[in-house]
Amino acid sequence: MLQIHQFPHPPLQNYGVLIHDPETGETAAVDVGDGPAYMAAIHATGWTPTQIWVTHHHFDHVTGLSEVKSATGATVYGPPGIAGVDEVLSDEDHFSFAGRQVEVIHAPGHTMDMLNFHIKSERIVFTGDTLFVMGCGRLFEGSPSTMWSSMQKLTALPDQTVIYCSHEYTLENAKFAVSVDPDNMALRNRMIEVEQLREQGDPTVPTTLAQELATNPFLRCANPEIRTKLGLEQASDSEVFAELRRLKDHF
Ligand code: ZN
Ligand code: FE
Repeated sequence: MLQIHQFPHPPLQNYGVLIHDPETGETAAVDVGDGPAYMAAIHATGWTPTQIWVTHHHFDHVTGLSEVKSATGATVYGPPGIAGVDEVLSDEDHFSFAGRQVEVIHAPGHTMDMLNFHIKSERIVFTGDTLFVMGCGRLFEGSPSTMWSSMQKLTALPDQTVIYCSHEYTLENAKFAVSVDPDNMALRNRMIEVEQLREQGDPTVPTTLAQELATNPFLRCANPEIRTKLGLEQASDSEVFAELRRLKDHF
């Protein structure tokens, strides 16, 4: 079994992640948005990264990359165009971590370079800023239809897949979700759960694909109640997605 250590770090309610295999001693870091926070996590766990997986070029995901790379000698996997990446990846590439196959999912929309990392054998996916708990990343570079296609790549994974995302944006996302999907009881119940978690200072990440399919409006573009609420009964799923993203940007 892989062990996962998730820790919050600045600047944008980010989550850092270390993935460790006790058998081989191998460790992977997912993004390195903050060098000191990662070095502290490495010292606290005793897990020294042998690999770093970069999702995309935004500063809150790569600022600590050179510090942690030079401190650990880790091999850096990531998209093209980022300083310090040793192994440039694209859609459907595979590489090996601790004897497992890691599948690369190119998931553009938030940025065009966005990569998500799927460890199929463990049913875990790291979605960066593509899919959040009850939300999704803002469209800085891609069109709504580009992001919708990326969402469909993620929903094609098994329902039990555990999803780690890069930010604790859940409460704000949940408030928006309720505004467009008010009669969804699974969503109402989850709102109560996440409020309790945050009051205790606990993370709402990870989530599962099954939970997201039930509560995340950005994955529920075919849902008749959401369509009626938006007045988009006849629209395509991609058009519903675009309107949800537009409304969220102004929420
Ligand atoms: Zn980002
Ligand atoms: Fe981010």
